[in-house]
Amino acid sequence: MTHIAPAIIVLGNNSIPVARKIISVLPEAQLYGLADRTSDVDVSFTEFGATLRELFANGTPIIGFCATGILIRTLAPLLANKRQEPPVLAVAEDGSAVVPLLGGLNGVNNLARQIASVLSVIPAITTTGDIRFGIALEDPPVGYRLSNPEYAKGFMSDLLAGHTMRLEGNAAWLRNSSLPIVQDAQRVIEVTEKAVFSTLNHLVYHPATVAIGITPLNSSFRGEGSELITLVQQMLTDAELAPAAVAGVFASISDTAEPGLEAIANYLNVPIRFFTRDAITQVMSQHQTADVAVGAALAASAGELIGQRQTANFSCAIAIAPLPIDINTTGTPRGRLAIIGTGPGRSDWMSPEVKEILRNATDFVGYSTYLDLVSAFTKGKHLHESDNREEIARAKVALDLAAQGRFVAVISSGDPGIYAMAAAVFEVLDKQAKPEWQGIEIQVAPGISAMQAAAAKMGAPLGHDFCVISLSDILKPWSIIEQRISAAAEADFVIAFYNPVSKQRTWQLAEAQNILLRHRSPDTPVVVARNLGREAESTIVCTLENLVPEHADMRTVILVGSSKTRMIQKRDGGIWVYTPRRYDN
Ligand code: SAH
Repeated sequence: MTHIAPAIIVLGNNSIPVARKIISVLPEAQLYGLADRTSDVDVSFTEFGATLRELFANGTPIIGFCATGILIRTLAPLLANKRQEPPVLAVAEDGSAVVPLLGGLNGVNNLARQIASVLSVIPAITTTGDIRFGIALEDPPVGYRLSNPEYAKGFMSDLLAGHTMRLEGNAAWLRNSSLPIVQDAQRVIEVTEKAVFSTLNHLVYHPATVAIGITPLNSSFRGEGSELITLVQQMLTDAELAPAAVAGVFASISDTAEPGLEAIANYLNVPIRFFTRDAITQVMSQHQTADVAVGAALAASAGELIGQRQTANFSCAIAIAPLPIDINTTGTPRGRLAIIGTGPGRSDWMSPEVKEILRNATDFVGYSTYLDLVSAFTKGKHLHESDNREEIARAKVALDLAAQGRFVAVISSGDPGIYAMAAAVFEVLDKQAKPEWQGIEIQVAPGISAMQAAAAKMGAPLGHDFCVISLSDILKPWSIIEQRISAAAEADFVIAFYNPVSKQRTWQLAEAQNILLRHRSPDTPVVVARNLGREAESTIVCTLENLVPEHADMRTVILVGSSKTRMIQKRDGGIWVYTPRRYDN
């Protein structure tokens, strides 16, 4: 299971002092507090059940300050696969009890011990093997993989029934446990990088000590990963190494764009980490080699080189570290850039995908007003605020940060692809490309756009063909806007106007109204929606003739109906607006 920072869930401020003690030993943990009942938390939530289930489904370890029954009942519908469930623990508000509930195969007991120790209590661990031997065979510590998990349960039962075992190879966590280790026992636990045959009575753990260093030799090669996969497979087989002992694939940061790296890492199901050219050059000169692959393997392992081979397109080196390689402190991961849309404002209009990105990103880049929209997630993050007009500069900052291995979230309101940052990032990538941006993993995560929020408030004004026009003439000339409004009006589209007015641009909306009146009936329904999803939200409906441009501002979106758009009076005096999809004569 990949490493995900735990979420500590508190439902009231009373739990926070104990939660802070836990954070002192789990510094990356995020504190989740129920909105209105807690303050000074990392993430505030309103829906307990939905939040918990989302975290659980993502594999986030959960430490809940609440009754065990609440956690069990909330998560019960999701319990399906014990190998995949994250640790879930209940902690008493006063810190007097720590109860591991789920995630026995993913470290819940160790987490319970860690938390109990800082709270000076005894954890409520009930797993027999764990109590007797201080160890869970099925749940080795990070850096070790059990090659035959299906045998672990029977093996442990035998030991609990009084059988003894030998230990071959070394691992402190096994050596220092209370396992019944004797020299000439029949049963064996072996710790080895080698691909050995295991049986019911012979458990094998592979330590993550093998580093695979790779460098492409031919920058014009455009093959898929198969050549590299075959090369690595062959080298592992020749060295009799188990693929499960591979800790990661390692390369120079100048090779991030090489697609073969991703292919081999996916094939082995291990992470990729990059080293700076300097770090690799230093190791290369120490070991008197000219091969970057050797440099990367040795930089990762600080160990012994055991194989090196080249094809026409790649050089690959394998080295073995004396101890498991800690992937979190070795090199930097591939940089990520997520261009996300927060929706218009309300947090329940923000997608779970976007929330997940906001929780995990290391850096936020955006206009300060938009960073405010995600303030529930900004604690402990690096914030790079800028002026709203500096889109291109902001995109470059974001790409440069991601090229250093950071996980950058570029924040837009609404949808990031609609008059927002996504186009700016791609424009910079296209027109001002830097080689170090090539390997960045780029993702656009959509949000609800202002026009959708406005339409939903009023019924279904965008129910049939519509178009969207920005009235800002900062980036395009007014002549184009004018022509586009005319054409759209003539084509009888419903039109959503973004950026209708700003402090500097005061006349454009009135001008748009004049153009429209040349083509469309004066009583065409118009929706004027301000501050959607934010404080002082207002939505009014008027006719095209009665539209008062002064009622709009920078935070207003305007929907102008087509000739088919209709209004329906509600009994409470309100109005629905819709555009039918059917064209009856
Ligand atoms: N990406 C955004 C649009 C950014 S352009 C989106 O998809 O919604 C900025 C314009 O969007 C504003 O001038 C206004 O027309 C509209 N807008 C953004 N947020 C709004 C909100 N909360 N309420 C009404 N209009 C909004």
